[in-house]
Amino acid sequence: MAQDRLKNIRDHYDIVVIGSGLAGLTGANVLAKCGHSVLLLEQHHNFGGLATWFRRKGGHIFDVSLHGFPVGMIKSCRKYWTREIADSIVQLKGIRFDNPQFQLETTYERADFTSLLIERFGIARETIERFFDTARAMDFYDDQSMTTRQLFEQFFPNRSDVARLLMEPITYANGSTLDEPAITYGIVFSNFMSKGVYIFRGGTDKLIGLMKAELQRNGVDLRSSCPIERIVVDKGRVKGVIANGRHITCKAVFSNANLKRTVRDLVGYEHFDDKFAEAAQAVRLNNSSCQVYMGIRKGETIDYIGDLLFTSTAPRFDSKAMRAMDTTSRTFSMYYPDTRPGSDRYSIVSSSNANYDDWASLTDEEYQEAKRRLIANTLDSLEKYIPNIRDKLDHVEASTPKTFEHYTQHIAGATFGTKFEGLAVSMDLSKQVPGLFHAGSVGIIMSGWLGAINYGVIVANEVDGFVSSAAEVGEAMA
Ligand SMILES: Cc1cc2nc3c(=O)[nH]c(=O)nc-3n(C[C@H](O)[C@H](O)[C@H](O)COP(=O)(O)OP(=O)(O)OC[C@H]3O[C@@H](n4cnc5c(N)ncnc54)[C@H](O)[C@@H]3O)c2cc1C
Repeated sequence: MAQDRLKNIRDHYDIVVIGSGLAGLTGANVLAKCGHSVLLLEQHHNFGGLATWFRRKGGHIFDVSLHGFPVGMIKSCRKYWTREIADSIVQLKGIRFDNPQFQLETTYERADFTSLLIERFGIARETIERFFDTARAMDFYDDQSMTTRQLFEQFFPNRSDVARLLMEPITYANGSTLDEPAITYGIVFSNFMSKGVYIFRGGTDKLIGLMKAELQRNGVDLRSSCPIERIVVDKGRVKGVIANGRHITCKAVFSNANLKRTVRDLVGYEHFDDKFAEAAQAVRLNNSSCQVYMGIRKGETIDYIGDLLFTSTAPRFDSKAMRAMDTTSRTFSMYYPDTRPGSDRYSIVSSSNANYDDWASLTDEEYQEAKRRLIANTLDSLEKYIPNIRDKLDHVEASTPKTFEHYTQHIAGATFGTKFEGLAVSMDLSKQVPGLFHAGSVGIIMSGWLGAINYGVIVANEVDGFVSSAAEVGEAMA
């Protein structure tokens, strides 16, 4: 890292935020608005974490994780960011499913799903209403022993087609399986069902640009290409961070880096009691992802075929098969010109779930070959919806779990954080090491754009309480 990335940096801040994912950015903004001095250090040259984009020759721009989020983003962005950001959020209405069990199009809202379940799947209205109400009523403090599989069996016994309709998009969205606690499903599914699926009009580049401007207005010191090497803990309390060999002191650290990396590498297990360190070690990571980015040549157009296409030739929903290297289950996200008003360009991004180990164990040659196969299979599958798609493209490339690991430093390229047990570890860090906080994709329910933003706010409020009460104690003793 070039030394001048830390040019004019102060020796001390109230809070250092590690990482600029949506939780880190939002936490930094809330804390700065509370009046604290905040330094945000991001290891990558861009801000946004997984909420990112990249440009390619030929005028192409690709969004990595702008596929859809729940309506709650509007409220969160208005409250914790700006009206301009909130006002750019728009609904996607064409959500398509195409698999051997059913083909349908939906707005992915409760009323539409209810009609589909009655008319296409023959389920009684009363059962559907009870299912929606049960899912809606679930919260973190509920019994966590019931799994999503059991929830579906209770309401829709032996209906693998219904389970697929209800589960497949959620598996794409956060990597969860039928064996997670049912509350993780209930919370995420109900968030989407309340009013459908939304995206940010203008693209991720515009969103992160607006967020950066707001952070600067609120006085956050923002630095990119600055990896944190260590969180300094002395006499059991957080004292600062080390970046590029330089010690910057602070009252609290808000880590948006991967939870397990924060505990293991940035702090070190020796600073936690044995039981907590064991619990942190035992936290399971969620899976990773593969994507194929397809840029349509300038001047070419494609007809509207829906906004999000969940496609698969697998006979039934199977989360393990969805992560396999030869999976046929993928989501196509269609970006028409109105994604970026004023543009006349089209692009398509295909996303699938993936196991890190499948990709990390390959030789360089095998890895390149596997990427070529991924691209070829993806284009073959897309031909069904856009005949001659290959003739319309002038750019195509793929990313794999190794790509995600490289750009975010998340262990095993985990793109959706941790399984449910990660949430308790994340929330209890400051009880172990005063001044140490974490926010970012954990516990399934805190992942995704909305989950990350909302968790960033919750943790920022805790950090504010911690730093403010430490200041009061200091004043009282002065
Ligand atoms: C392919 C894909 C598609 C997705 N699609 C959607 C979608 O459609 N809708 C949705 O809601 N969500 C989606 N998500 C999930 C969503 O993008 C993430 O849950 C969310 O953006 C994660 O935010 P976060 O705050 O947890 O941090 P992250 O985005 O994970 O960012 C963490 C940041 O910390 C930085 N960092 C790590 N270590 C250090 C260090 N030592 N020093 C400094 N910086 C460090 C990283 O570089 C990174 O910038 C998708 C994710 C993927 C991968």
